[in-house]
Amino acid sequence: MSKLEFDFESYSKIKDGSELTKDVAYQLASNFRYTSDRLFQTAVELRNKHKGNIVSFSKKAFFNIVNLCRDTCDYCTYKAEPHDAKLSLMNKQNVKDLARLAKKYKCTEALFVTGESPEQKYQEAKDWLKLNGFTSTGEYLANCSEIVLNEGIFPHTNAGNLTKEEMKILRETNMSMGLMLENSSKRLRGKGMPHHDAPSKEPATRISILENAGELKIPMTTGILVGIGETIYEVIDSIYAIKDIHKKFGNIQEIILQNFHPKKYTSMQEHKTPEMSYFKSIVALCRIIMPDMNIQIPPNLSHKNYHEFLSVGINDWGGISPITDDYVNPEFSWPQIKNVERKCMTQNFKLKARFPIYPEFVPAVSKELRDRMSLIADEENYVREDYWK
Ligand code: SF4
Repeated sequence: MSKLEFDFESYSKIKDGSELTKDVAYQLASNFRYTSDRLFQTAVELRNKHKGNIVSFSKKAFFNIVNLCRDTCDYCTYKAEPHDAKLSLMNKQNVKDLARLAKKYKCTEALFVTGESPEQKYQEAKDWLKLNGFTSTGEYLANCSEIVLNEGIFPHTNAGNLTKEEMKILRETNMSMGLMLENSSKRLRGKGMPHHDAPSKEPATRISILENAGELKIPMTTGILVGIGETIYEVIDSIYAIKDIHKKFGNIQEIILQNFHPKKYTSMQEHKTPEMSYFKSIVALCRIIMPDMNIQIPPNLSHKNYHEFLSVGINDWGGISPITDDYVNPEFSWPQIKNVERKCMTQNFKLKARFPIYPEFVPAVSKELRDRMSLIADEENYVREDYWK
């Protein structure tokens, strides 16, 4: 496609509700140099149309439940080995204590993160589970979810490839869950590629788990990691793969677009982070492909200029913690929430705290969870401002 073929008329058709086909998305992406300004403008108009001037975040505490992991991704420094100083094995008391601290700081989300099925590889993980009275990480997470819920914090579990049965149990206490697709390309599992030693990152497996969640009507957070050796076409395929799941089940509550950062002592340490202009074009394209989707950019991963993503169509900052690190990216601290609010206000946006679930998905959760939420929710099902501030 030449720069003239996708013309003003085509952009206005998109703004009026026409779907962007994958072929046209490919063509736009191969001409980002010419198309990005118009993409940004269209993305902003679509965000304004579907999300207004509200930008949300979730006030959270990161519960690093267990960071032993069966898999190895070439970019990961979250995963620990049993003798590492960074090993985390939270017991029930640790979970309760952090939930109480989170409550004191008026957090509403307990983000539970684990490595992939640690008990399948490590005796230390089996022993830790046994000590806590369980045989699988999934069972233990269900118990931890009850603990934090009883302390007034809402769990959101991000524990890799859970079974359908595990998700069914966790649904009773988790209003939403998370599983990054990362990318739908099988190529990234090949030899020399970042997911070669990570069978849990097999795209078909991840897609089937997101679909299982769809069958269980669980609102899911998913997303794409941009810059790990994929092509722009594979990024686009991944966005459409998520769109297809959402079309089928209506259960994808948000897409996180995460820009890769190389980490020391990993095999990808020399790999570059994606160029800002390229990454912004992807964000805008994602908004155009899925105009009413919630699109999240983690602000700590673009700490100097995260506010610029408001100009390419995002409407969410994800979880921000006033009390814990981002243990997946500990080198990037969270911005202060009041600074995020100020940056939003400068661009005429209103920052609102959401629960681990977006307001439009609230009807999908149990009455018990809705009753608990209602104690601190405003009339639009965001967290009441006088609660979180
Ligand atoms: S990214 Fe997740 S699955 Fe991959 S090695 Fe790290 S903890 Fe394991």
